[in-house]
Amino acid sequence: MTRVAVIGAGIVGLSTAHALRKAGADVTVYESGAPGSGQSAGESRIFRHAHDDVRLAAFVSESRALWRGWEEEFGVELVSGAGAVAIGDGVEGKLRVLSSLPDIPVALLAPAELAAALPILAGFRGKAMLDANGGAIRTRAAFQALTRSLEGALVQDHVLAVQHIPEGGAEVRAGSSADRFDHVVLCAGRGTAALARGAGLDIPVELAAHARVTFRVRQDAGVPLPTFQDGSGEFGETGVYAAPSADNRHYAVGLSETTAVRQDGSLADSAALDSLAARASAYVRRALPGLDPEPAGYVHCWVTRLPWGDDGVGIWSAGNVSAVAGHNLFKQAPALGGALAETALTGVVPPILRPGSHLGKS
Ligand SMILES: Cc1cc2nc3c(=O)[nH]c(=O)nc-3n(C[C@H](O)[C@H](O)[C@H](O)COP(=O)(O)OP(=O)(O)OC[C@H]3O[C@@H](n4cnc5c(N)ncnc54)[C@H](O)[C@@H]3O)c2cc1C
Repeated sequence: MTRVAVIGAGIVGLSTAHALRKAGADVTVYESGAPGSGQSAGESRIFRHAHDDVRLAAFVSESRALWRGWEEEFGVELVSGAGAVAIGDGVEGKLRVLSSLPDIPVALLAPAELAAALPILAGFRGKAMLDANGGAIRTRAAFQALTRSLEGALVQDHVLAVQHIPEGGAEVRAGSSADRFDHVVLCAGRGTAALARGAGLDIPVELAAHARVTFRVRQDAGVPLPTFQDGSGEFGETGVYAAPSADNRHYAVGLSETTAVRQDGSLADSAALDSLAARASAYVRRALPGLDPEPAGYVHCWVTRLPWGDDGVGIWSAGNVSAVAGHNLFKQAPALGGALAETALTGVVPPILRPGSHLGKS
């Protein structure tokens, strides 16, 4: 049986481990904290098909089918059925990209339809669309299901080094162990580039920090809330995203903007997260009168971005070590996990995910 180590129990690491188990591998997952405590933290993520790069839209569409498969396998809803709404002039470009792919139901929304779908939004008469198969990813349910299915494979320890072994395979040096595997997959989020460098892989990842703020829905919205992206500028911001909690009583709102991090890992401006959070609250006051603008919770987290775009993703592999990097990976985790498992078991990275493919370029 092929022995594979996965470093990191974020959504990508767990998806990889799940795919490896299904393929018959013997998997060990190393995680220094709690599963889902890194960039995957917090309740809800947006599942949307629209991406600038049509290849990524197609990959994400494959992932949507896999999320459905998991829903059947685990017997729990993992992506809400309420859809993904986007507003602003960018909507036409999104529709153009999606119309070239089969089976992605998207439609323009008239102002009254938008108001019915998203009653917490202030009046808006510009361009709006609904991606009917998009929706809010139930992050907590996904972690619960995946960790349960991987029982016995999870090791709580911090990995300090991964290195190739001359006779074949790779070694994982963790806080209290040194073990050998046929292949090691690095899914360590912020920790991936450093571990990869030690194994001879150079990943051009850029680190930033991000703030997302959760707000209470003032009164029963009456409909399951869709996710939301606003690129219109109508309410004073041109890059806003938002997603409902599983109980439909909270809505998490963030600016797509991130704040810079220095080489040593410190924030270039320590007040910047506060300012991003304040702008999210100010936006809620203007655009989302159905929400109480008093923050009810925060997610502050690191963001790892590739130089070719906010949705850029790639897999690096050399010998018996592979690594994944990118941003906005939650929605594509099932497909990405499958690709990483394939890489670990065959030694071949699927062409579309090779770094030179620049998948997800803006
Ligand atoms: C606020 C916010 C909103 C987002 N919104 C969306 C969205 O709407 N849609 C979307 O698709 N994506 C979204 N994203 C991005 C998405 O959440 C991330 O791309 C994804 O969660 C990354 O998962 P991961 O498994 O690669 O990394 P992580 O979740 O960071 O997992 C890596 C794990 O590795 C562990 N680790 C690190 N180093 C070591 C080590 N040396 N030894 C052992 N363990 C280690 C960490 O503890 C961590 O648990 C958002 C991100 C944030 C922060």
